[in-house]
Amino acid sequence: MSKQIAKDEYPLTYVKGVGPKRARALADVGIRNWQDLLWYFPKSYIDRNVSNSIKSLKFELINSEKNFISESIENIRISNESTIIAKVKSINLINYGRNKRLLKIIITDNGFDTAQILFWNSVDYFKNLYKIGQTIVISGRPELDKFNILTFNHPVIDAIEAEDEEKYIQGQILPRYQLNERMINYGITQKLVRNLVNEALNRHLEITENLPDEIIFKYRFPNRSDAVVNLHFPSSKELLLKSQRRIKFEEFFYYQLLLAIKYYKNKTEDKGIVFEKKSVLSRKLFESLPFELTSDQKRVIREIANDFKSGKPMNRLLQGDVGSGKTIVALFAMLMAIDNGYQTAIMAPTEILAEQHFKTINGFVQNFGVNCTLLTGSIKDSRKSLIIDDISSGRVNIVIGTHALFEERVKYYNLGLIIIDEQHKFGVAQRAQLKKLANQSLVDNSYTPHLLLMSATPIPRTLTMSYYGDLDLSVLKEMPKNRKPIKTKIVFESNLQEVYEFVKNQLKIGRQAYIVYPLVEKSEKLDLKSAVEYYEHLSKDVFSDFKCGLLHGQMKWDEKENVMREFLEHKYDVLVATTVVEVGIDVANATVMVVENAERFGLSQLHQLRGRIGRGSEQSYCILVTKDHYRYHFKKEIDIEKERNLAMLRLKSMEETNDGFKIAEIDLKIRGPGDILGTKQSGLPEFKYADIVADVDILRSAREEAFRLVGSDPTLQSDENIIIKNELRRKQQSDELYLEIA
Ligand code: ADP
Ligand code: MG
Repeated sequence: MSKQIAKDEYPLTYVKGVGPKRARALADVGIRNWQDLLWYFPKSYIDRNVSNSIKSLKFELINSEKNFISESIENIRISNESTIIAKVKSINLINYGRNKRLLKIIITDNGFDTAQILFWNSVDYFKNLYKIGQTIVISGRPELDKFNILTFNHPVIDAIEAEDEEKYIQGQILPRYQLNERMINYGITQKLVRNLVNEALNRHLEITENLPDEIIFKYRFPNRSDAVVNLHFPSSKELLLKSQRRIKFEEFFYYQLLLAIKYYKNKTEDKGIVFEKKSVLSRKLFESLPFELTSDQKRVIREIANDFKSGKPMNRLLQGDVGSGKTIVALFAMLMAIDNGYQTAIMAPTEILAEQHFKTINGFVQNFGVNCTLLTGSIKDSRKSLIIDDISSGRVNIVIGTHALFEERVKYYNLGLIIIDEQHKFGVAQRAQLKKLANQSLVDNSYTPHLLLMSATPIPRTLTMSYYGDLDLSVLKEMPKNRKPIKTKIVFESNLQEVYEFVKNQLKIGRQAYIVYPLVEKSEKLDLKSAVEYYEHLSKDVFSDFKCGLLHGQMKWDEKENVMREFLEHKYDVLVATTVVEVGIDVANATVMVVENAERFGLSQLHQLRGRIGRGSEQSYCILVTKDHYRYHFKKEIDIEKERNLAMLRLKSMEETNDGFKIAEIDLKIRGPGDILGTKQSGLPEFKYADIVADVDILRSAREEAFRLVGSDPTLQSDENIIIKNELRRKQQSDELYLEIA
């Protein structure tokens, strides 16, 4: 065994063709020994059967160049890099302008169709890299130039060595490893890496199987060492794909195992308070509702009731778009707790939101003999003491408030259910603190209080599976029936006057409007200036017959809340805003949202803004104003690097759907998971081989299997799970990804 390890860690420095410099460059990308080489999988493969042809790429581009402004977003594709393999036909330096030169390389993939590669910088360097007749692999995003010639500007080019060309022509799949600049500068070539990997494989290092037989059989995975071999040197396309699936599955599986262990630990070790299902108060609420619950609301209430009677603490995330009716669901849960003799608390991120909850909730239950109280930071101390007394004596059944809820001096009375609204606004520590206070308040401290988290930010399922993977999930997709879907329209700036006329007409019939102006990020001072100037312009020149309020990022939170409150009380007809209060404010009378320079906003942000309206029974309108020339930047094939294309995709998506989950899916495609949740702070896992967006089906099965396995053996005690347990322990000791969930 010890011999084995010594052999595995043989420093690559002394290997022929490596040496200290190259060894360091390799170590930089994580290759320190033979074992590491096995796990340095190719970034891509060259396979003559699947690469694009010049002809087909050109055809696709010609079709997407048309103006697709009327095209549905369903038909939009986000273009990936294209790869073509071609021979160099000619290399020419061309003079243009004054003293400027560009390098033009003409390539062909069949002697007949041609494309061009253009280099605008370092032309002398690139000129010498390639030879006429050489076969090269070009990766990039091609365009059509004005003569309709397929053009790559500064693409990534990989020259194929002569000996490989032979293999390629025979139809072999060739691995291409990721080589960074330093590696290339030190002369580390594809060939060298391939030889090193080959040698590593020849050493027959131990590759321990880490998936149960059952799973390997069920998914027809290759065993682990076959998968590794085939990832480097695929013997067929089919085996390559299977090997890729297997490696990705492994990665997801182990991550999901940890989530599953955490999930079941909570379910098996922690004791939950049992609330009986029959609740007089919730019956009363049900009968007195002025509307019919949606079937989604009924289902979620049942899910919560089942948690309550399970004897396990609830840890549930309730997701539902703005206006989907989460508050009433929360209220049903609270009434069940109260009926069983427990106090409940609901926490919101802003005072105004807490006040609104108080009004709503109190409005529903004041005749039921249920006592509600509001506890926020700005309540005067003398009054606060009284409220705190009422809470600790148990006279209060429902405590509604902000961060003030977890001040040390607040003593709860048998607090059995905690609800956190807009949960992403609170940190994990804050949630834990409230939970601790609740636990201390229980008559029997050996129980864990129930927790319901709510969020109006729709998160695609694939992200929830990773990020909130240890919580139970409830989703409200259906909107209450009395709601009229918001009408959304893209309007170009040349029609701005018409927009203002439209707004005025709404104001005249007594409605209110938001006009949002993007934050100028460069300088906050500038932001303030432009916001104030803009506000003055609108209030004097445009809406002079109406009252306008101003809300901007430089205001203190209480000033902001005051302005919002005044808007809510209809002291203003128009609210001009830069950074806008994002969460939950319910101004049912506001029916218009105008977003200027809408192209500058992110998709989720636009959707959040739109959520400010459409909260009453009147028809609401969302108007997205953008520059006239953006009209020409909507194409069927979206190049993600072209901001204008993307901007139009965002606006178009808004026009086409009101469904927050759909919007979130599109946003995920555009921005990737990290940007949506903010990877670093969110603790969203970063996987090495798998991609939580592209490989969502693999993620789904890995999660299913992991939860099934842990469900039947929560501590991985059984003999057949011993490999898994060891591997998990090993990963937890060495892999950052696994440290966070411990
Ligand atoms: P959110 O999910 O954004 O928190 P709310 O709970 O604030 O939504 O609900 C928005 C509005 O819709 C409230 O005025 C609420 O009373 C109302 N509402 C909730 N459920 C229904 C329903 N099933 N039918 C009609 N109106 C409803
Ligand atoms: Mg809400």
